[in-house]
Amino acid sequence: MHYDILFRRATVIDGTGGAAFTADVAIRGERIAAVDETGTLDAARADSVIDAEGLCLTPGFIDVHTHDDTNVIRAPAMLPKLSQGVTTVVVGNCGISASPVTLAGEVPDPMNLLGRAEDFRYPTFEAYAEAVDAARPAVNVAALIGHTSLRSQVMDDFARPAGPAEIAAMREALREALDAGALGLSTGLAYRNAFHAPAAEIEALVAEVGAAGGVYTTHLRDEFAGLPEAMDEAFATARHGRAPLVISHLKCAGAGNWGGAPRALGKLETAARDQRVHCDCYPYTAGSSTLDLGQVTDEIAIFITWSDPHPDQAQRWLSDIAEAWGVSLLDAARRMQPAGAVYHNMSEDDMRRVLAHPLAMIGSDGLPNDPHPHPRLWGAFPRVLAHYSRDLELLPLTEAVRKMTGLSAAQFGLVDRGVIREGAYADLTLFDLATLEDVADYARPIAAARGIALVMVNGAIGYRDGQATDARGGRLLRRRTRLSATPISTPTTEMHS
Ligand SMILES: [Zn+2]
Repeated sequence: MHYDILFRRATVIDGTGGAAFTADVAIRGERIAAVDETGTLDAARADSVIDAEGLCLTPGFIDVHTHDDTNVIRAPAMLPKLSQGVTTVVVGNCGISASPVTLAGEVPDPMNLLGRAEDFRYPTFEAYAEAVDAARPAVNVAALIGHTSLRSQVMDDFARPAGPAEIAAMREALREALDAGALGLSTGLAYRNAFHAPAAEIEALVAEVGAAGGVYTTHLRDEFAGLPEAMDEAFATARHGRAPLVISHLKCAGAGNWGGAPRALGKLETAARDQRVHCDCYPYTAGSSTLDLGQVTDEIAIFITWSDPHPDQAQRWLSDIAEAWGVSLLDAARRMQPAGAVYHNMSEDDMRRVLAHPLAMIGSDGLPNDPHPHPRLWGAFPRVLAHYSRDLELLPLTEAVRKMTGLSAAQFGLVDRGVIREGAYADLTLFDLATLEDVADYARPIAAARGIALVMVNGAIGYRDGQATDARGGRLLRRRTRLSATPISTPTTEMHS
């Protein structure tokens, strides 16, 4: 038999959570043609043979929580993600998506995380899909539609509930996007431009998602003291719309709420008995977003990453800026806006509990347009594998891989991805577990991980030995399956719960 590419004697971690095994893996075109443990491929030939002895071969990582919407078009090399072994990004999280949006004036917060006004030029999901494919990104792109983005097209004042005609217009735009292949809907209810949307407004939109068989993801209305009630709202909204739910970056934020992870995870497990619910998580104890006056407090350290009116004050602690100016933290924050911030607002113990939970997937929440980004942008996936699995043994390597591959593909409806098996797409990551390391940190956040040997996207080798190649193999992944909202109990989940 002749193949395009043949990995010899790889340690295969197949993404299902099952035990690792040694195998030859053959690629033809865009797909995995054979996975052989028995030596029948010994005589096989290939245009390219890769000696994978001693290296881990896994499905390419799926970053289920990104804000790469316009970057996949403007910066299609996608090095922050590709260099980690990520082969698919899910864009459109936290209520903000690049489509279906056209903007003339100012970019509403936090849509400004995605780019400037001129970057919003996709009035339909189809226009966005075509732009992605024309850009030929290095990674695959799957897209959610953001509730705040929908609002920006029909409302001129965000500080109120949408009216019946506005809801109808948002439903129609959402339905059109879902029909064209969007994965589902996201909300960012904690942000001021979505906060005034009552549950009924979201329910009407999630009903469209459920009818289409898509997924509903939500940055909860409250990640602080009101977390339990915000989780209940999300469960009820998803149940009402008969859609599967993913709670975005589940966390117990704010010093007064540390130690809350067991209760939050208990609620998630209880809900999971009756409906399909999961969450995503990044492996750090700081969050990052636009600078939000509601989160300014002296209880946690806040680092300013950028500021439009005061670029000279960027990359300083907010407390130092306030002191230098002789004003309160809040006044300093007000003067810095619009700005970006890193909030050191979680406890390590809570974060570890969420990360290790069988219902949690890995999502970086990286902010690609921040000049001094949170290190999760370049480091999230290797950090889970190297620091938390290999070094701290928080979770088995097979389970860590499942949380960034098989589980993620299943919950977002990415067909034939996230697993290594014959017939699946050849999205693959080859790494050396001994040397794997996330290099990015808070002080120097722009740095590629060590130990990623090779990354393949749709059969094309996009990254090798620390360098991107010319082969950008990604494309837009349109929704091809209907997700059910009823809980699915997999053997892996039962084993770990
Ligand atoms: Zn968010």
